[in-house]
Amino acid sequence: MPALRHRLTRPGTAEPRDGSVELTCARDGRTHRVDEHAYATGLGSRRETFRAVCGVIVLAGALVTPPGRRCPTCVDIVQLRKDTARYHEK
Ligand SMILES: [Zn+2]
Repeated sequence: MPALRHRLTRPGTAEPRDGSVELTCARDGRTHRVDEHAYATGLGSRRETFRAVCGVIVLAGALVTPPGRRCPTCVDIVQLRKDTARYHEK
């Protein structure tokens, strides 16, 4: 396992699982959402960068980076996905 530890969106929380991970970017201080596969790709690249769902490249370097404000674009995209998924369930 890499030494990096990130806050993961845990199953069983109030938020429905959507397979994404919350990461706080050391550059803009915002908490972005990163898809699971993008997270795995970032870990594999060993560059500590991850492409968020909003398109921002998240630099998740410092463990001391406190959770920042949620990126509104990421929130919108994740919400839109949930709405779309709900629509298709009908
Ligand atoms: Zn974002």
